[in-house]
Amino acid sequence: MTETPPEAPKFEHVLVIMAHPDDAEFCCGGTVRMMASEGTKITYIVLTNGDKGNHNLAVTVPQLVKTRMDEQRAAAKILGVNQVIFMGEEDGFLEPNRELRRRVVRHIRSLKPDLVICQNPEAYFRGSGYINHPDHRNAGLVVIEALFPAAGNPMFFPDLLAEGLEPHSIKELWVCMVDDPNHRIDVTDVFDLKVAALRQHVSQFDDLDELEKWLRERWAEADEAGVEHFFESYTRMWFT
Ligand SMILES: [Zn+2]
Repeated sequence: MTETPPEAPKFEHVLVIMAHPDDAEFCCGGTVRMMASEGTKITYIVLTNGDKGNHNLAVTVPQLVKTRMDEQRAAAKILGVNQVIFMGEEDGFLEPNRELRRRVVRHIRSLKPDLVICQNPEAYFRGSGYINHPDHRNAGLVVIEALFPAAGNPMFFPDLLAEGLEPHSIKELWVCMVDDPNHRIDVTDVFDLKVAALRQHVSQFDDLDELEKWLRERWAEADEAGVEHFFESYTRMWFT
């Protein structure tokens, strides 16, 4: 049975929780920019420090981590993000364990978002040539497990409650990078800004012009009149 989704409300505070610097721009950069333009507060949480995003051994790990933080902040600025929180987990070894869940719950209870956007914990691979990064899956898993049943239940993490961090439940959860989305946002009007934000991640791409070409070719969908549109797609869940 397919439920008819209610119209998406205007959200007050969107929390985007991703594994790596640059993931948010790929997944939902256009959505973020559009919501920020409408006055929605946006917070990013980046779970890992991105310290494996490099093949050049002349670059030290501390240099790389700093570069990636700087790049993420620059990209977030272009998209109108209010705050970027780095949680500093080691890149490549993200584990959806109890302690990380607790740390994520702490942020959810503290920030009180009404929408959370996260990655898809089910995607081991997509299509015929893409093995999904394990951190992407584990980031999605830890976020979803933090949201339910922990963030909204006072019996979970009583130490957080003792600090004054009351249970918090979100209105909606949007999961990106899914094969069968039930919610699509036309981000054509802000696609240039999504691309500009991705281009801030200089350390991650050998050729930024090639990246931009690939993005525009891969994401473009022509409508009946032949006009190109760009979409970001989600599995959208709403809780009443
Ligand atoms: Zn990533």
